[in-house]
Amino acid sequence: MTARALTRTVVSLMAVASLAAGCTPMAEKRPAGIERLYVFNCGESRTTDVSRWSPGVNVGQPWEFSNNCYLIRHSKGLLLWDTGFSDAVAAMPEGLVAAGGALRARLPKALAAQLAELGVKTTDVSIIAFSHFHPDHAGNANLFPVATLYIQETEYEAAFGPTPQKFGFQPATYDKLRANPVVKLKGDQDVFGDGSVVILSTPGHTPGHQSLLVRLPKTGAVILSGDMVHFESNWTNRRVPSMNFNSAESVKSMDRVAGVIAQYNAQLWINHDKTQSARVPKAPQYLE
Ligand SMILES: [Zn+2]
Repeated sequence: MTARALTRTVVSLMAVASLAAGCTPMAEKRPAGIERLYVFNCGESRTTDVSRWSPGVNVGQPWEFSNNCYLIRHSKGLLLWDTGFSDAVAAMPEGLVAAGGALRARLPKALAAQLAELGVKTTDVSIIAFSHFHPDHAGNANLFPVATLYIQETEYEAAFGPTPQKFGFQPATYDKLRANPVVKLKGDQDVFGDGSVVILSTPGHTPGHQSLLVRLPKTGAVILSGDMVHFESNWTNRRVPSMNFNSAESVKSMDRVAGVIAQYNAQLWINHDKTQSARVPKAPQYLE
C-alpha cells in the first residue's frame, strides 16, 4: 500500500469512527492555525453577600471570585479575550470598591506587565474581543489602540449609546475604542475562518454578551464563559444573578452553551469561579 493510499484508509477509518461515535465529520476536523492559549490573572474580588449572584441562595455569605484574561496565539494573529480590571487597580493598596459597593477588587499584577513578560506589546494584539463591557472585563480596553474589535452590535450600541451606565458600563475604561477598527456581529463568528476560535452569542447578562469557543489541538475544545454564568452551582441550577439585563435570555444562553459543550465535548471554563480557575495553568505557562 502506498503512503497516500494508507493515509486515505486511515482518514476513512477515522470518518467511520467519528460517525459511529455520533460526531459529525465537521466537529472532528482539527482546526489548523491555533497554537497556544495563555491565561492571566486579571483580578481577584470579594463580596460580603454572594446572593446578589444567586438570588435567595447563600444570603449574607461572603464569596471570592477569580477574573481571567486570555491570549490566543493563532498563525493569523494574537487575539485577546477580555482585559480584566483596569491596570490602575494594581497600584491601589486597598483595592477598588466596585459593583456599587458589593465587591472589593484587587489586581496582583497589571495586564500590560503580564503581556510584557511574554514579549507581547499591547500594539501586537491584532484582535480584541470582550465577553461584555462591564469594568471587570473591559477595564483595560483603552490599552489596545490598533486591535480590531469584535463585538455584538447590540453590545456596541449599549456601550456607545446615550445611557451606558444603565447597563453597568463605565465608558472611561473603553472610550478610546471608538477609534478602533470594529467588526459588529449579529450572532456567532468564526474569527479566523478555520473553526478554531468562534465567538458565541450568549445574551442575557448584558444585551450583547458573548462567550468564546476555543478548539485547541491537544487540550481539545474549551468554552470561555465570560459572565454567561459566574460559578459552578449557578450553572448546575441555571440560576441568574439579580443584576442581569435579561433573565429569560440568560437561561436560554446557558441551555445553548450546554448544546455546544455536547457537540464539541468541550470543557466549560467559568471565568469567575475561583475554585475552577485555580486549576488552570497561568501564563507564562500555556495550553496547546
Ligand atoms: Zn464579570
